[in-house]
This record gives sequence, C-alpha cells and structure tokens, in this order.
Amino acid sequence: MVMLKSLAAEVLSIYAELDAQVAAFAAASGLYCPEGCGECCASEKVEATVLEMLPLAFVLFADDRAELLLKRLEKIDGRGECLLHRPDLAGPGAWSCTCYGQRAVVCRLFGFAGNLDRAGTPRLALCRVMRQAGLPRTNPSSSHEKVMALLPLFSEAGMRITALHPGLGTIRLPINGALLEALQKVGIALALDAGQQRGSGALPIEPPDEPPFAAPPLPKAA
Ligand code: SF4
Ligand code: SF4
Repeated sequence: MVMLKSLAAEVLSIYAELDAQVAAFAAASGLYCPEGCGECCASEKVEATVLEMLPLAFVLFADDRAELLLKRLEKIDGRGECLLHRPDLAGPGAWSCTCYGQRAVVCRLFGFAGNLDRAGTPRLALCRVMRQAGLPRTNPSSSHEKVMALLPLFSEAGMRITALHPGLGTIRLPINGALLEALQKVGIALALDAGQQRGSGALPIEPPDEPPFAAPPLPKAA
C-alpha cells in the first residue's frame, strides 16, 4: 500500500512537470485546444500504463466512486472509449474529462508534443482538430527553432514513467483496461491495509462458541 501511494505521488510530480512543459510550448507556439473540444477523448485508441492510473484510482476510492466504476469497467472488459469522458459536460470553460487533474500522460501531451525524427529533429504530432482549424504552428514572436526546442516528447515522458516502476509503467493498455487494473490493485492494497489495522486493534479475538464446520461422525462400535 505504502509503495503504491508513493508511486502515485511520484507520478503526480511527473504530471506537474509535463503540464509546465506543455504550458511553455503552448505559449511559445500559440497552439491551443478550441474550447470544449474533447475529440481526442472519444477515440478508442487512448492508451495508458497501469502506473499512470494509480493517482486516479486512489482519488476514486477516496470519493467512494471506485466500486461503481469497477463494475462498469469489468462489464466492458476494460475496452472501448474512456469511461471518464463525458461529452455532455463540455461547454464554454468546461472540458469533457471527469478526472482532469489525474488524467494520463497522453491526455496531457496530445496536441502539444511529438517525437524525434531519424535525424534527431523534434517533430510536432499536430492533432487533426488543430490542423483543420488552422491553428498557428508558431507564435510570430518566437523563432521556429526556439519553439521546437521546447517541444515535449512522448518518448521522454514514457521513459520517465517506465523508470519509476518498469513492472507497472511499461505496458500500455487501452485506458479503461489500465484504470481497471489500477483500481483492482489499489482496492486489494486498501483491503489488506484495513485488515491489518483491524488485526492490530484492541478488540480481543474470542474463540467461536460452535466449531466452524460439522464434526465428522464417530465410528460405530464393532
Ligand atoms: S488535443 Fe486536439 S482533439 Fe484533443 S482537445 Fe485539443 S484540439 Fe481537441
Ligand atoms: S482520462 Fe480524461 S483526458 Fe484522458 S481520455 Fe479519458 S476523458 Fe479524455
């Protein structure tokens, strides 16, 4: 339990750094998401590692929302469009993600990140909505090179997550599957923790009045 909690805290601190990188790149490039857009969340291809979903799993248990969500995730076998996506909530000043603070790495970087090409040059992976909207690729006041030097890299973010815990932070699953596993792991850890606390409590453990199973019949006398 302690291990999962400290991993979740480390993931959140990486998220804070990624958010700062994205904000710096967005300011320099002039890119932004049209208000209320959540088109990337409607894709069934969004993936995450179990590790990335640990912070959210702890929040869902703390808010008593985990049990219901677990049932829904099990029902769809951890597949399909992200269950945290609520397009009906989108609108001016609002986005359609119901877990915005704990969203996964790709949810933070998409539209504002890229990768290095074979020559080692950073290339932006511009999202379709931004491309179609003709959003500016560079802020006129910044040079292209300066802007691209700020580009967050998917590969770098992925490596940072993997380095935290290769067992939980390497394999990418559909986001619902990653959340399902994270909730299961946190749920088990919380149950074990609660059990240990009960076991170390002051209440004496009394032997039961009756045997917990039926006694075998006595052999008949010869
Ligand atoms: S990254 Fe693209 S698809 Fe996703 S919310 Fe922003 S503009 Fe919309
Ligand atoms: S976690 Fe939030 S941002 Fe990521 S896909 Fe789901 S609804 Fe979208």
